[in-house]
Amino acid sequence: MEMAISTGLRTLVCPVHQCELQFDQSIINIGVPFPDGGINCPRGCTFRIERGIPRFVPSDNYCSSFGLQWRKYQKTQLDSHTGADISRKRLEDSLDKPLSFLNGKRVLEAGCGAGRFTEHLAENCGSLVSVDISNAVDSNLTNCAGKKPYMLIQADINSAPLRPHSFDVVICLGVIQHTPSPELTISNLAKYVKPGGDLVIDHYANDSFFSPLGRVLSLGYPLRCVLKRLRPEVSLKITTRLTAIADPLRKRTYKIKWIDRIAVRLLPSTCYYGSYPGLDPEILYEWNELDTFDQLTDYYKHFRSARDIRQCLSRLGFREIYCEKSSQGVTARATM
Ligand SMILES: [Zn+2]
Repeated sequence: MEMAISTGLRTLVCPVHQCELQFDQSIINIGVPFPDGGINCPRGCTFRIERGIPRFVPSDNYCSSFGLQWRKYQKTQLDSHTGADISRKRLEDSLDKPLSFLNGKRVLEAGCGAGRFTEHLAENCGSLVSVDISNAVDSNLTNCAGKKPYMLIQADINSAPLRPHSFDVVICLGVIQHTPSPELTISNLAKYVKPGGDLVIDHYANDSFFSPLGRVLSLGYPLRCVLKRLRPEVSLKITTRLTAIADPLRKRTYKIKWIDRIAVRLLPSTCYYGSYPGLDPEILYEWNELDTFDQLTDYYKHFRSARDIRQCLSRLGFREIYCEKSSQGVTARATM
């Protein structure tokens, strides 16, 4: 395992000069958390290690609402917390293989959040580098360190301090739609895939020609326009209140589709009662509260069809492209 971690660290390069970063050798084999200090590039750049994690972006950026989200709901979606296997199943469905497929492989997890997938990836792959642009990395460290060693960095995947073509599998779930340009993000993710390696992604879907209209004709639309501009702490108070009002109603309406369609437009909260009936009711409520905040405060929210994503992957030179509608919107896998 020591070998695996040192390999993970050596994939780090200066995001400006692309040259190898200089580490204090004593930290190379331990995985996060690292002792706080600096990382130097031979050409003069310095990056900080803070609260155990190398940081390559300012701590406040367009994703600060995600940072707050994953602090407040640090454990909500972790299988190790819920006792269910929702996150493991989503990973395996996306890979279309059991997690044992990752044994011995070098994996990049882009947009790791609080670690719902990190805990499974660290457990199953040869070496793992997990990246997130937001302060969610702090929650990820709390949740996942101390199990299997792994590498965790706070960085923008669009200018990540990673050596190109160095991963067997690059996986990015629930993330790309929240970046400024999905196509740019996908092309940057593609850079990190080794020849013969795999990219695994998903994206919010444009279900039909009319779906943009459907989204605008909901109270969620103007509400999000306001909430994403407020301080995340203020928005969180509002969405928590909204969930408290909407949830008891949606708990009744979700079984009758046409009534629920009206209900969600008037009370735009997330409702998983139909999707995860086996989950503990208290945890389910927390999921609903979490995703109501997520859905109403994300700064960027893009939608793409399976055809759009397939074309994008094809342009980037991927082959064996699988790209279909899924419960997540669109799920795609392709080989470089
Ligand atoms: Zn540099």
